[in-house]
Amino acid sequence: MQEKLGRREFLKGIGTAGTVLAGAGLLAACAPNSSEQQYSLGTAADSSVEWTDETDILVVGSGFAALAAAIEVKQAGVDVKVIEKMPTLGGNSTINGGDLAAVGTKLQLEAGVSDSFELMQADMLKAGKNYNHVERVKTVVENSKAAVEWCESIGVEFTKLNFHGGHSVPRTNTTKNATGSDIVRAQIEKFEELGGEIQTETILKSIITNDSGRVIGIAGQKNYDINSGQGTPIYIKANKAVILATGGFSNDVQMRQIHEPRLTDALTSTNHAGATGEALREALKLGAMDVHMDWIQLGPWTSPDEPGFGYTPQFCERLVGHGLMVDPKTGKRFVNETGDRKVRADAMLSLGYSTLVIGDDVTVQRQVIPRILEGGMAAGVILKFDSLEALADNFSIPKEEFLAEVQRWNSFVEKGTDDDFAALIQTGATPTQTAPYYAAKLWPKVHHTMGGLVTNLKAQVLNQNLEPICGLYAAGEVTGGTHGAVRLGSCAVTDCIVFGRIAGQEAAKEQA
Ligand SMILES: Cc1cc2nc3c(=O)[nH]c(=O)nc-3n(C[C@H](O)[C@H](O)[C@H](O)COP(=O)(O)OP(=O)(O)OC[C@H]3O[C@@H](n4cnc5c(N)ncnc54)[C@H](O)[C@@H]3O)c2cc1C
Repeated sequence: MQEKLGRREFLKGIGTAGTVLAGAGLLAACAPNSSEQQYSLGTAADSSVEWTDETDILVVGSGFAALAAAIEVKQAGVDVKVIEKMPTLGGNSTINGGDLAAVGTKLQLEAGVSDSFELMQADMLKAGKNYNHVERVKTVVENSKAAVEWCESIGVEFTKLNFHGGHSVPRTNTTKNATGSDIVRAQIEKFEELGGEIQTETILKSIITNDSGRVIGIAGQKNYDINSGQGTPIYIKANKAVILATGGFSNDVQMRQIHEPRLTDALTSTNHAGATGEALREALKLGAMDVHMDWIQLGPWTSPDEPGFGYTPQFCERLVGHGLMVDPKTGKRFVNETGDRKVRADAMLSLGYSTLVIGDDVTVQRQVIPRILEGGMAAGVILKFDSLEALADNFSIPKEEFLAEVQRWNSFVEKGTDDDFAALIQTGATPTQTAPYYAAKLWPKVHHTMGGLVTNLKAQVLNQNLEPICGLYAAGEVTGGTHGAVRLGSCAVTDCIVFGRIAGQEAAKEQA
């Protein structure tokens, strides 16, 4: 039986509990080759293709989502191939901060933090301005502890519980070296141990369907050179499914400007060079549905003094709720330091110039890991001062106002309440009063694309009739809906691992 959902019912479903997306997977096993679907650009019928390679499941990408999916497929005993267009593996996942938000983990229990699914869900919805597809959020939250335990089962060590702006409690589990490569490396090792292979410099150019609209493979290029855009044509047959895990499009200036014209190339990005949207657009050409494409996140914790993500985000985020941010022109605080990313980035954009995050020696030594502090100082982006006066002189901050503001902040820390901006003063926070003092400049960069393909809870890509496109799955940042308008820090890893695993498990069940 196949039922079609009208637009009104669809929107109603999203507005109430997002149940329609969950249900869409149940209503239709796969999309029919209906007249409403135009399989056009970039596709070809089965008979016209001379395949150069064959597998049961083709995973495109090599970040958290791709590798989680590929491991699940292998563990189900199904043949899988992974392709990655870049010469190196891991995409944004490997340069990520290693922060994974989860409820009820060992680190939370040890720290005595009281948390719940409902609270994490409420935090994600609040940041997402309730644009989030609720059932997706629920799936991520309820599987978050399992995501941490799955990572641990393949050898990842989470050693610190951290607080991220926009969350109500500390629930960020950070890997030993505070980097996503701790997770990616373990995933690659596990995948290879299972006999899996990853082919780099191999790009998906288009998705191939058969006459009935089922995805049956891809056209691509091997020996692909990202700089010249050249490579050797290949055609990979996928007997069961193609899983897209190709990440976001923060570095695709044209594509991000279509959705958010202010995000010109004058704004740099924290992302790796391959964070472009061509694979997502190929799915759209098949008639896939997209969502939230113009919600593009700026990271409020990056420095104009270093390229990409750099050291400053993990310096800044470890200080929020402990240290303070100031407007160097007034010497005063200007925003809730523990607010979500949009709150803080918007406040900086409206000032129109870079601001500062400041911590004293006690706070910085307690909060910031040596790799970040030492690396940031060596790179000249985290600066150290013998006194608050010297810090003020260096950044031309009005001294009297600044010293009074630090005193005022310290009084808030001592009583545990911020009367000015309602920042969440963190447990164990101490006044900013012990030299040396550390500071870094802050200016936003393009960081995350919340929008992407609409998938159901089985990670099947839905078409414009909200029916699964046969043989096409997606997970990770290439999908949309989970984070709504604003992604909360450390929730992307959770989303990628949870839905990456689901994509692998579900695709493995497909009939060849
Ligand atoms: C610097 C940085 C730090 C971050 N820190 C955190 C954090 O600590 N916690 C958190 O939750 N989130 C964080 N994020 C966000 C998070 O890292 C990403 O959302 C996540 O890594 C996306 O994973 P993914 O598997 O979807 O895609 P990616 O890891 O980006 O992988 C996608 C891969 O697909 C490849 N690809 C793309 N198109 C094609 C194609 N056509 N053919 C073949 N291959 C293709 C890309 O080259 C890439 O390697 C951070 C992001 C950045 C940029």
